[in-house]
Amino acid sequence: MQMKEIYFDNASTTRVEPEVIEKINQEIESYANPSSQHNKGKEVREKIENARKKIARSIGAEDEEIIFTSGGTEAINLAIKGLAKANPEKRHIITSSIEHPAVIECCKTLEKDNYKIDYIKTDKEGIVDTEEIRKKINKDTLLVSIMHVNNEIGTIQPIEEIAEICKKKKTYFHTDCVQSYDKIPIDVSRTKIDLLNASGHKIGALKGIGFIYIKLGTKIKPIIDGGGQEFQIRSGTENTTGILSLEKALDTERDKTRVKKIRDYIQDELEKTTDAKTNGSKEKRIYNILNISFYGIEGESLMLLLEKENIFLSTGSACSSSRLEKSHVLDSIGVQDLYIHGSIRISLSHQNTIEEAKYAIEKIKESVNKLEKMSPFKKDEE
Ligand code: PLP
Repeated sequence: MQMKEIYFDNASTTRVEPEVIEKINQEIESYANPSSQHNKGKEVREKIENARKKIARSIGAEDEEIIFTSGGTEAINLAIKGLAKANPEKRHIITSSIEHPAVIECCKTLEKDNYKIDYIKTDKEGIVDTEEIRKKINKDTLLVSIMHVNNEIGTIQPIEEIAEICKKKKTYFHTDCVQSYDKIPIDVSRTKIDLLNASGHKIGALKGIGFIYIKLGTKIKPIIDGGGQEFQIRSGTENTTGILSLEKALDTERDKTRVKKIRDYIQDELEKTTDAKTNGSKEKRIYNILNISFYGIEGESLMLLLEKENIFLSTGSACSSSRLEKSHVLDSIGVQDLYIHGSIRISLSHQNTIEEAKYAIEKIKESVNKLEKMSPFKKDEE
């Protein structure tokens, strides 16, 4: 028996929620430009502002602190480069070695412009050392940028503590919440976060929509010039459909306890019946991500064998796996090369079931067995 389709790659992107599709279909007539002064434009403006309000409430922000962008990557570029542009006198940034490439590449760009960047290492569990951040902040530090949840191993960083340190040291704090938004509650009215970004396609909305929260009073400059939409910070005609899809996606029942049970079941079964090792902390981790390694086999080959069984998952993050480089995250937390290359990431959503998990576990075991027989690397070489 072959299952219909098992989609275990929700940290890469999600299927659009059926209610979101329904909503978008209902909004087909909301096509006018929200900046137009006629009634049709004003109607669309009102819908966008209602969506902004709901999204702002979801993180305890004020409406005008939410700026819509094309997604997480653009929001991160705006946070880092926009701050740098507005505060040229400060030229030191602290980030971690396990950030998403959007953050790391922005920092590398600034490095070429003579910025000093500290890429803080994490411990073996994949958690940053807040003390090290505190010690590294100096009078030249513009920004500390630390992600909330890591996209490859799912570890949760102590962002409240980091936010407090930054507040005391009068340094901007940015956190990439693409993997945590609408999954782990966050309240910017109680936590001193200056900038936070999220993305729609990770939570069942359309692709090409995201937002950045920018605390009122933050000194930042736009990185896109144009008509001055989004409070003069992000020019370009608003993506109305995307914005409404994001608003609707917030109504999704995520069923976190059930999803966590399925994730833990897969992890326990694979650890019990194979030589698999889970990467990163098992405790300080989001409920839907599992990164697991099989010694001496190729994660890509495993992914391809599973694809034949209609099971879809990733090796590391989607962005880095297309480059076929070894994961900078697993490398950074000290995973050995022969485990890194044999790693897969299973990322679930509320749409997954325990039956899918049971079927996938059997197919993973079968495929790992096959690949281990072909592998030139045997476990005792460790
Ligand atoms: N940050 C993290 C942690 C991510 O997982 C991703 C996407 O994979 C991004 C940023 C980029 O977001 P987007 O795809 O919306 O540009």
